[in-house]
Amino acid sequence: MEKSDSVKQYDTAGRPDLKSMSIEELKGLLTDMGEKSFRASQLFKWMHSELESDIDHMTDLPKSLREKLKETCTYTVIKQVREQVSKIDGTRKYLWELDDGNRIESVRMGYRHGSSVCISSQAGCAMGCAFCASAIGGLDRSLTPAEMLEQVYRISAIDGERVKNVVVMGSGEPFANTDNLIKFLRLINDEKGLGMSLRNVTVSTCGIVPEMYRFAQEGLPVTLAVSLHAPDDTIRKKLMPVASKYPYDTLMKACKDYFEKTGRRITFEYALINGVNDSPECADMLAKKIKNLNCHVNIININPIKERLFTKTGEKQAEVFRKKLEKNLINVTIRRALGQDIDGACGQLRRRFPYNESSSDH
Ligand code: SF4
Repeated sequence: MEKSDSVKQYDTAGRPDLKSMSIEELKGLLTDMGEKSFRASQLFKWMHSELESDIDHMTDLPKSLREKLKETCTYTVIKQVREQVSKIDGTRKYLWELDDGNRIESVRMGYRHGSSVCISSQAGCAMGCAFCASAIGGLDRSLTPAEMLEQVYRISAIDGERVKNVVVMGSGEPFANTDNLIKFLRLINDEKGLGMSLRNVTVSTCGIVPEMYRFAQEGLPVTLAVSLHAPDDTIRKKLMPVASKYPYDTLMKACKDYFEKTGRRITFEYALINGVNDSPECADMLAKKIKNLNCHVNIININPIKERLFTKTGEKQAEVFRKKLEKNLINVTIRRALGQDIDGACGQLRRRFPYNESSSDH
C-alpha cells in the first residue's frame, strides 16, 4: 500500500471524512461498522463517479446504512455562493462555502480541447506574495482532499460533462498541504472514480524545496509549475518571501530533480510587472538561470488588484521579453489572460465576499 494511502481521513471533529477516503479505507471503515466490505465500492462509485451530492440518493445502499453514514461520518459537499461569467471569454468563476463557513474559489476555463478547472488548495494563503490577493488575509486553513475534489465535481455537475484538465493554482500553496494534495491526486486518478489522467493535472508551487523533493518521490506524473516571477534572488525576495528561505540555485536543483525522477518537463510561471521584472536585461538573466533545464516558460500579464500598486507590462514590452527568451533558446508562451472582467486574479472574489451572503452574478 502507498504511504499516503495509509493515512485515515478524519474531519476536525474526528468523524471519518468519507469523500477523502480510498476504497481500502472505506472497506476498513464499513467492516468496523459491521457492514459487508463490497459496500465500499458502491459508496465510492456514488461519490467519485456519479458525483452524487446526497447520501439519501444512493439507492443501492440499504436505508439503515445511509442513516448510519449520515449520523457518524462527514459527507463533504461544497455550496455554491456565487457564479460570475466573463462576457469577454465565457470563463466562469465560482465562490463556494465550506461546512465551517470558510469560502474558497475556483475558475472554469473553456478551451477547444475541453474544459480546465483551476482549484484552490487552501482557504487563503500564508506565503505572502506581494502581488497576490490570496495573501492579503493570510491563511485560514488547508483544504481536505474532499474539498479539493468537490471543486472539480460540482463544476462537472454544472457542465453536465467531465472536466478535462485540473490546475492546482488557485488560492493556497499546495506544498503547504502536501499529504492532502497527494490524496486528492490519487482519488481523482482512481479508475473507479473520475479516472483523470495525472498528465492532465498541473500543480503550481511558489517553490517549497523540501516538499518538491518529497513530491517527486511519489511517482505521480503531474506537470509541476514553479512560480519564478523574477530573474534573480534580489527581485524575487521583494515579490515572494519564500525566496529568502529557498534561494534560486536551491530551487533550480529541486526542479532538475523533479524532471529526473518524473520525466516531466517543468513549467516556469513568470508574471510580468511593469518596471519590476520586465526589462530585456531581466529576460537575459532569467534565460541564464534556467538554460540547463528541460522547461517551458509561461509569461503571464498580472491581473492588477486594488490593494497593490503593481501595474501591467505593456504588450510591446511583453513581446520584447518573450523574444529575448526565445533568442536564448528557451521555450516560451505568453498566456492569454482569461476572465479579466470577473475578478480574474486568484483570491479577489473571496476577498469581496468573505462571509455569508448569497447571490448569483451572471
Ligand atoms: S501567489 Fe500563490 S503562493 Fe503566493 S500568496 Fe498567492 S496563492 Fe499563495
